[in-house]
Amino acid sequence: MSEPDCLFCKIIAGEVPSEKVYEDDAVYAFRDINPKAKVHVLVVPRRHLANVAELAEADPQLLAHMVGVARSIADESFHGDYRLIFNSGRDAGQTVFHVHAHVLTGEVLDE
Ligand code: IMP
Repeated sequence: MSEPDCLFCKIIAGEVPSEKVYEDDAVYAFRDINPKAKVHVLVVPRRHLANVAELAEADPQLLAHMVGVARSIADESFHGDYRLIFNSGRDAGQTVFHVHAHVLTGEVLDE
């Protein structure tokens, strides 16, 4: 279920280095290389799906699990508050077409 040309599949496989924050059987979480907040983590399902709509349709429990992982990261690195972003589609800023949640936390965020 991985795609040979997908950057995040390669990160999950350990073929491209990353700074791991959390992993389990279903997801892998690592620090964004270009952080937009003090703590900026990407939560990525191991299963390759292109965007959040595909994920919600294919496996809503996995989507719920990703939200839970995001909350745990915010609990550990701040006091539980966080911003969760799914860019979906090129014109919305999605650049990697393996669904990922941006978790922004660790500080008070600008609006
Ligand atoms: P998108 O623009 O929503 O698709 O998010 C892709 C994110 O992946 C961006 O925030 C990038 O900074 C991040 N990114 C790209 N390459 C790497 C990498 O090799 N390691 C960690 N983060 C990356």
